[in-house]
Amino acid sequence: MDYDCIVIGGGHAGIEASLAVSRLGLQTLLITQNPDRIGTLSCNPAIGGLSKGNIVREIDALGGEMAHLIDQTMIQYRILNRSRGPAVQAPRAQADKHSYQGAARKIIEEERNLTVMMDTVTELIIDKSSIAGVVTVRKHKISAKTVILAAGTFMEGKIFIGEYDAPHGRLGEEAALGLGIFLRNNNFPVGRLKTGTPARIDGDSIDYSGMEKQDGEEFAPFSFDFNSVLEKKSGLEKNSENFSDLVSVPCWICYTTAETHRIIRENIDRSPLYGGKIKGTGARYCPSIEDKVMRFPDRDRHHVFIEPEGLYTKEKYLNGLSSSLPEDVQHRFIHSIPGLQNAKIVRPAYAVEYDYIDPLDLFPSLESKRLAGFFVAGQTNGSSGYEEAAAQGIMAGINAAAKIRGEKALVLGRNEAYIGVLIDDLTTLGTTEPYRMFTSRAEHRLVLRHDTADTRLTPYGREVGLIDDERWGRFQEKLRTLDTIKELLSQRGDLNASCGGSLDGFPAEWTERVLLDQKYAGYIEKENRIIARNAKMERVKLDPGLNYGEIKGLSAEAKEKFTKVRPQTVGQAARIPGIRQGDIALLMVLAQKNRNVPD
Ligand SMILES: Cc1cc2nc3c(=O)[nH]c(=O)nc-3n(C[C@H](O)[C@H](O)[C@H](O)COP(=O)(O)OP(=O)(O)OC[C@H]3O[C@@H](n4cnc5c(N)ncnc54)[C@H](O)[C@@H]3O)c2cc1C
Repeated sequence: MDYDCIVIGGGHAGIEASLAVSRLGLQTLLITQNPDRIGTLSCNPAIGGLSKGNIVREIDALGGEMAHLIDQTMIQYRILNRSRGPAVQAPRAQADKHSYQGAARKIIEEERNLTVMMDTVTELIIDKSSIAGVVTVRKHKISAKTVILAAGTFMEGKIFIGEYDAPHGRLGEEAALGLGIFLRNNNFPVGRLKTGTPARIDGDSIDYSGMEKQDGEEFAPFSFDFNSVLEKKSGLEKNSENFSDLVSVPCWICYTTAETHRIIRENIDRSPLYGGKIKGTGARYCPSIEDKVMRFPDRDRHHVFIEPEGLYTKEKYLNGLSSSLPEDVQHRFIHSIPGLQNAKIVRPAYAVEYDYIDPLDLFPSLESKRLAGFFVAGQTNGSSGYEEAAAQGIMAGINAAAKIRGEKALVLGRNEAYIGVLIDDLTTLGTTEPYRMFTSRAEHRLVLRHDTADTRLTPYGREVGLIDDERWGRFQEKLRTLDTIKELLSQRGDLNASCGGSLDGFPAEWTERVLLDQKYAGYIEKENRIIARNAKMERVKLDPGLNYGEIKGLSAEAKEKFTKVRPQTVGQAARIPGIRQGDIALLMVLAQKNRNVPD
């Protein structure tokens, strides 16, 4: 067996990676532990949210699949932060969990150059300093020019529920054992991270009468190529040919009580996190309920969002109650929440600890610095979240294909996409806790609105070959239509209307977009001037073989950090924390000497 590319893991990163490489005409093998679990939403049954919704639309603009999957399977849709500025608004949708998986598997199976194989990779085959293939637990040796590792929470995964612990990647699913040890033995910088998930309860055992109801809004697609989505409907019964006919399923809000907090505090010594059993670092911004209670003792209650897991199950997800406390404690604290007094737990909350690779070991193309042709994407890079994983997946796929063809890697700028911010943060700053995207991480968020993702990125998708002629034609038509809308609004004297300037016969989102561009034109222009100023440093290339230890005048800290990160441009070097202006000035002089500075 010989492939252009092997993708390890059929999670959100693996789906986008394997589709991107195979759609670029290369023979691709997706090895995953269980094909039935392709595209599983391990944690909350929702896609999008603040900055994450922008990422989904960016993946779509590049020619990826995540937006199509959620468009086919959403059961509630909302724009978050509607009352705030457009730069921080984003779409979020609840998914029908099982249909999402089904749609993901279907699209993978339909891809001509993509083969799926059920197995577990335990070793990499290395030829000098290049990847040559993989070895699986069933002793298959498969060769490939490139390999993309997208193992999620499964590499040496271990779950914890109170005193119970066992090797699993998700509850009920085997951990992928062997590969993490192999990577450690071969000097890859492997660490441990931890994440957690709340209990799922039987919806019939909930008393909704005292809870706040949260209805969805009118459905709208994430995908810019929305018409082709309608043509490809996955067969979800509730879906019709028209988004506005879909039935929206509500979420519910309830609150923890002083009694909930007392039960948690009294049993904190039974928590594997507080008892020291869990060594991996968890995300500060996504704390378990025991973390919230212990870290914020003055808070007398915390939100709990009750989210539907789908249309064909009564199970509900308790967003906000992630925990690793023993099951008897989970029962007691859940029952202390008004409305959940009689809740029946279908699946307990648990924490999972897993191996990740320090992303500082990767180039911004997501290729390993120590092993040519080996790419890493998703949670294995220290990120957290479906959208972050999928974004890295598509970029790793595009760049693995570029590597095989001897083409230049695609690296998106921080001013071009949240995906650029995500990968730049991971590969320049590294991470010691699960990294999640926030709007505040993007310094140019005004130019990264979700509704502009297609103009920002579809030309790149076209350039690399993921946008076909038909879609490119539709995109060109849209650009012409935006100009027409602007012209018509201007003629009507409505171009400076703050909002709501609808035009018959044109999509409301497009009109809204023209108005927003006009409203923020001054700010956007200012932002673009800053971007242009910074762009010069981004274009100054640094020699990858530079021996920083020998550069006279560089501070000791800069020598150490530059040697570790091996920045590709002066711009990237300047973003490394703790680097002084003087060190950057010295790099500029060096680059000028080596004629690496563009005019
Ligand atoms: C308990 C839990 C809690 C979570 N909590 C949150 C949260 O609060 N917020 C949030 O944003 N995200 C959360 N997540 C994370 C979210 O599920 C992930 O970010 C996302 O699924 C990562 O996608 P991925 O593609 O990197 O990996 P995954 O979706 O984990 O998929 C990895 C796939 O690779 C396969 N695989 C792994 N190793 C091998 C191997 N060696 N050979 C073959 N196949 C292999 C696995 O079987 C799996 O199918 C949580 C996940 C879990 C499990």
